Amino acid sequence: MAKIIAVTNQKGGVGKTTTCVNLAASLAAMKRRVLLIDLDPQGNATTGSGLSKESLETSVYDVLVGTHSIKEVMVKVSPGDYWVLPANGDLTGAEVVLLDLPSKETRLRAGLYEVDQTFDYILLDCPPALNMLTVNALAASHGVLIPVQCEYYALEGLTALLQTIERITQALNPSLQVEGILRTMYDPRPSLTHDVSSQLHKHFGEKVYDTVIPRNIRLAESPSYGVPVLHYEKKSRGAIAYLALAGEFIRRSGS
Ligand code: ADP
Ligand code: MG
Repeated sequence: MAKIIAVTNQKGGVGKTTTCVNLAASLAAMKRRVLLIDLDPQGNATTGSGLSKESLETSVYDVLVGTHSIKEVMVKVSPGDYWVLPANGDLTGAEVVLLDLPSKETRLRAGLYEVDQTFDYILLDCPPALNMLTVNALAASHGVLIPVQCEYYALEGLTALLQTIERITQALNPSLQVEGILRTMYDPRPSLTHDVSSQLHKHFGEKVYDTVIPRNIRLAESPSYGVPVLHYEKKSRGAIAYLALAGEFIRRSGS
């Protein structure tokens, strides 16, 4: 059975997409079968995995509205060696279209049954909003991975996210859990980093991953080549950190 993880934080620019692409590639390098689902109309996980947004014939939008199944739409990427359910600007309209469809919150979950045995891990790259796409992601997931940038306003907004998770738990998905808190763009020098870290530990305890993702220019460069950092510069600090995260992630999920 696939473990389904929503990578969510309604703040933009905290490293959700970077984490999805590079965790997917690192898990694949460890011989896990991985599907990455792009749920952001910006399609950054799609292009960052080497697919062209413009030339998609079908996308996650078609799965949500029910005209195609996931297996009909997903694409294997290379050199990443994982599968992608891509997105593009079409997804912007999904929000409105979904409102008129039955079971609007659980359409992704329904689509995922088909690939439950096909993958070990399914990662969902969420948009920077607590909208209907994010609700679909949370309703479909076992766990939520929350990337947090260690800066002054890092904890702001986490309360709203936790309330949303709680609401989804009660209404749609009783087994939803916080899978882990990931510190991204980590700079060990400023004392602020330590303040944020200790606050995260206080609130989330063991849910905070030991692995931290450093600020690393290679992580910012690799999307423009359409490859995960592991296949751009495998000895970079970014690549090593995401491999370490994949190891910790697998250990924690007990597989
Ligand atoms: P989100 O998906 O949460 O909006 P992204 O993953 O797109 O965030 O990251 C925002 C920007 O920061 C991108 O330009 C990305 O390349 C860059 N970035 C993300 N993580 C790192 C990192 N650890 N080091 C350097 N740049 C990073
Ligand atoms: Mg993103």
